[in-house]
Amino acid sequence: MTDCIFCRIVRGEAPCGKIYEDDRVLSFLDIGPINPGHTLVIPKAHYATLFEAAPEDLCACIAVAEKIAVAVFGAMGAGGLNLLQNNLRPAGQRVDHIHFHLIPRHVGDGFFPNWPAKSYGPGEMEKVLERIKARL
Ligand code: 5GP
Ligand code: ZN
Repeated sequence: MTDCIFCRIVRGEAPCGKIYEDDRVLSFLDIGPINPGHTLVIPKAHYATLFEAAPEDLCACIAVAEKIAVAVFGAMGAGGLNLLQNNLRPAGQRVDHIHFHLIPRHVGDGFFPNWPAKSYGPGEMEKVLERIKARL
């Protein structure tokens, strides 16, 4: 896509702090890090979200993400690491080219230490299960 910032980075038309590249995958530092070393892993092919992405590209991204996660975790002296992937605005997606965040974490860094978990009412979990399984 011409006006997609991540496609422009893939084509070398916009700069990035490149960490890794192969035929399918590119990885670079996030320009607005939650913590130093916050890294993005993207397929070179443009897909807006997880819903459209080809499984081959997803598998390639996850395999690369694992290797880079180990490097980021060690290099940043992190105590933990989140692998995050946001789809559409309600989930926090701002760049419409699928990407995986690798976020090194430290105790007390203030980025969601725990999420506010809800609970299911009586019979609700069974209904949810049926609705999801009916679409597989
Ligand atoms: P999202 O909210 O879509 O999951 O995350 C998009 C991420 O891309 C953000 O963390 C943001 O800082 C990062 N980002 C946006 N534009 C650029 C850019 O031009 N270069 C780099 N390296 N990261 C970017
Ligand atoms: Zn793109």
